[in-house]
Amino acid sequence: MDEGIFIGVGGNSVGMIAVEAVIRKAEDALRSHPQIRGVVRSSLYITEPWGEEDQPPFLNAVFRLQTSLEPPDLLVYLKQLEGELGRVETYRWGPRVIDLDILLYGQRQWEDDLLTIPHKYLSERPFAFVPLLELEPDARLPQGQLLREMVRPIEDGEIKRVAEGLSG
Ligand code: AMP
Repeated sequence: MDEGIFIGVGGNSVGMIAVEAVIRKAEDALRSHPQIRGVVRSSLYITEPWGEEDQPPFLNAVFRLQTSLEPPDLLVYLKQLEGELGRVETYRWGPRVIDLDILLYGQRQWEDDLLTIPHKYLSERPFAFVPLLELEPDARLPQGQLLREMVRPIEDGEIKRVAEGLSG
């Protein structure tokens, strides 16, 4: 099997319609990268903010892709893309509109000062594992466990799938 690499994407700071536009731009950018192929996006999900509740809900999704970029190079590219997309015209005051995280990189494990793969919070955060499992219900962690057997239960109303795009 051509092992999937999974990238979590999400944002909230400029409102959900604007975040949706940014997620679509992120998808276009990933698709046109010469070393990335096979990009598939999950549904969009509306999720309640973590910790600090006095902020708007988040819009999240996960991309599956294949790439010849090694994990650190993929991280550098994702950070660059965050910077580029953060400067996209949305609302004038929008500070940071998008976060891109490497959730899984096939069966690879990585641990250094900059990067931990699988992502540390993958099995704790529904906004990461729910869209990933939508794309790959049988996704496995590097030690072979099925992700779906490792995740924590979801509470009522914590995450809602958006059937169609918000802006239609
Ligand atoms: P944040 O923007 O708050 O998600 O944090 C980003 C920082 O987390 C990055 O600059 C990375 O150095 C670090 N990091 C550690 N593991 C990962 C990962 N799997 N994917 C993305 N960033 C990671």
